[in-house]
Amino acid sequence: MNYFNYHNDQLLAEDVPLSDLAACYGTPLYVYSARTLRRHFRVLSEAFAGTDSLICFAMKALSNLSILKLFSDLGAGFDIVSSGELMRCLKAGADPGKIVFSGVGKTDEELEAALMARILMINVESRPELHRVSAVAQRLKVQAPVSLRVNPDLDPGTHPHISTGHRDSKFGIPLSQVHEYYAEARTLKNLDLAGLSTHIGSQITETAPFAEAGVKVAKIVQELRATGVALKYLDLGGGLGIPYQEQPPSPVQYAAAILGPLRDIGLKIILEPGRVLVGNAGVFLTKVLYVKETDVKRFVVIDGAMNDLIRPVLYEAYHEIVPVVPRVSGERVTADVVGPVCESGDFFARERDLPALQAGDLLAVMSAGAYGFVMASNYNSRLRPAEILVNGAEVHVIRDRDTFEDVVRNEHIVTLKGGADA
Ligand SMILES: *Cc1c(COP(=O)(O)O)cnc(C)c1O
Repeated sequence: MNYFNYHNDQLLAEDVPLSDLAACYGTPLYVYSARTLRRHFRVLSEAFAGTDSLICFAMKALSNLSILKLFSDLGAGFDIVSSGELMRCLKAGADPGKIVFSGVGKTDEELEAALMARILMINVESRPELHRVSAVAQRLKVQAPVSLRVNPDLDPGTHPHISTGHRDSKFGIPLSQVHEYYAEARTLKNLDLAGLSTHIGSQITETAPFAEAGVKVAKIVQELRATGVALKYLDLGGGLGIPYQEQPPSPVQYAAAILGPLRDIGLKIILEPGRVLVGNAGVFLTKVLYVKETDVKRFVVIDGAMNDLIRPVLYEAYHEIVPVVPRVSGERVTADVVGPVCESGDFFARERDLPALQAGDLLAVMSAGAYGFVMASNYNSRLRPAEILVNGAEVHVIRDRDTFEDVVRNEHIVTLKGGADA
């Protein structure tokens, strides 16, 4: 469900024609719908109503300051994975008491920043990290609220690059060692054993893996309680999929699956949804540059590229691609949709059934809100796109398009001694 709909033969973002945005701000362009973002947050919150819970938006999915502020104003917390993300949250006005810090490789400086900011908790992913948090907390003379991230060893049935809950993955600590870890953590100074965390993967489209993870962590929580470790938080991560093409469970079905095994657990439930909150709330707007025909194929060459949206090549991801102003003819063709970057991985769709297109036509790549702009780069010295937030009929530029000056900002031209002696 989102607020990108056709009206009078034009695709709109809420009340604003996407063709107006292209005319005003150029392409390629990311366009987000505030109403969709708010709706997704509300629907997920309602699914967990009646449960002591906190939704921490996994901001790596979409970290623009205005988006963070929108969620913060709705009462969301944040799941961060770097001190850069911490700074973004704080700049956007987030409550540090609602921030959890995940990730396998936190540096001393990052741990220090998180402790100084007094965040809710640090999700620890290894024994050396546990010791490091303790050492940093001692140096700062603070108590560090920590949660151990367990790897429940299950297969969430998603793409291998976004599957994190299998025992081969770098994430979390093995289930079999959880008890030793907590026993060891109790002997370390300045640690407050606040919680237990897990996150099994992303774009998960069935409820069973969530339920399975729930059963496994519930068992550990009970066992820990029996040994005198009284936790406050159970962090179940994110991972709920969205309908790129597949049909994921609804937030209500997801909540039922996740909460089923945890009814009487007595801990505050923390969730770290990323994609499900923002994925369908954004589109990537791009223009057709050329339609190129070879003996064997037709290519639609667009002005957007893999540096703007890398999901198709990185995850073999499917994104629906639709015309902003559909042609009346109704003629269809099969084509590859590709960008200008010098890589064969620079594609948006392959052998896709599309309406017949011409140079100048605008296309919307749907469901581009999550892991879209945040993964954009300046590869090929391309300028990263602007980001627009639409709210009803209001249009806000929430990030300007890069300029050439931005692209070379941190570079220095040096003159080398010695000349052309090669
Ligand atoms: C990426 C990530 C999330 C968010 O995953 P989604 O699939 O976008 O919901 C949540 N928690 C952790 C620890 C993550 O790494």
